[in-house]
Amino acid sequence: MDALGDVAHTLDLPRKQVRKLLDRFRVTRGKDFRLKDRDPADTAGHLITPEQAHHLLAAGTDRLAALQEKLAAQDRWSVLCVFQAIDAAGKDGTIKHVMSGVNPAGVQVTSFKVPGPEELAHDFLWRSTRALPGRGRIGIFNRSHYEEVLVVRVHPEILAGQRLPHELVGKKIWDHRLRAIAGFERYLARQGTIVLKFFLHLSREEQKRRFLARLDEPDKHWKFSAADLAERDHWDAYQAAYQAAIAATAAPWAPWFVVPADHKWFTRLIVSAALIEALDRLDLRMPPPDAAAEAALAAARAKLEAEP
Ligand code: ATP
Ligand code: MG
Repeated sequence: MDALGDVAHTLDLPRKQVRKLLDRFRVTRGKDFRLKDRDPADTAGHLITPEQAHHLLAAGTDRLAALQEKLAAQDRWSVLCVFQAIDAAGKDGTIKHVMSGVNPAGVQVTSFKVPGPEELAHDFLWRSTRALPGRGRIGIFNRSHYEEVLVVRVHPEILAGQRLPHELVGKKIWDHRLRAIAGFERYLARQGTIVLKFFLHLSREEQKRRFLARLDEPDKHWKFSAADLAERDHWDAYQAAYQAAIAATAAPWAPWFVVPADHKWFTRLIVSAALIEALDRLDLRMPPPDAAAEAALAAARAKLEAEP
């Protein structure tokens, strides 16, 4: 039985139910997409019980590990998971939990920070291209090329620092960048990269609670940054930029998942299920050895067995 069916089976969760759960958060078409219609505290209670969710998440770790092994053995497809979110939405924790059972040798995580001089000397997709996963590998982007239409859009002074020729910077720049991103992802999909994009959708109230928790607990002080608090002042501008980015780049070959982030367990569940579903659809199998390989294996066995 295939991966998702397997997990669903052990929990009496029909495969269709898992798909329905994911469909609730999957955006493959930008037209009519409104971030405001999405509830950051949603846990889809009518589609899955907390107990089923708990089991699905626990089983998901093992399934993902098994699927990643096949992905690597097959060596044709690659998987790119993009994580974008407002601060304190739980990107790091989600990546850590969802990938916890997977062989680290097959996964690469890239955290995109403020670009340095070498990065600023190139086009904006340059550093993302360099960090793409090769065939058989899973690449995680913790922030990504989307920052170029998010933080840069919210703070025009960053754009001013990018040393673009003046005549190329006009009102249409965001539209052009979004189209470049959509084209880039279409290209990747046609090259055999499964592109999955996750927006962890946190509410303003929950962000405040998490910031306060960081201040309350000395163990969490390292996580607190005054810069994050400053970004909170631009809440509406960020929401508008996310809305525009998701609407312009959602596609069947590069879907966005607008994942409710007020409840961490639910965020992890949806990300894990989406990744498993995508790998499952590839119908990966261990490659059967060809005749020459079979002969080499038989020769190897004969040689080992002939040893004194
Ligand atoms: P954490 O705070 O959990 O370690 P983080 O992703 O917030 O994770 P930081 O080092 O705090 O990491 O922040 C990275 C910063 O870099 C963010 O403010 C982000 O907006 C910024 N950044 C990323 N890409 C770009 C870009 N292309 N242009 C400008 N700023 C960027
Ligand atoms: Mg940060």
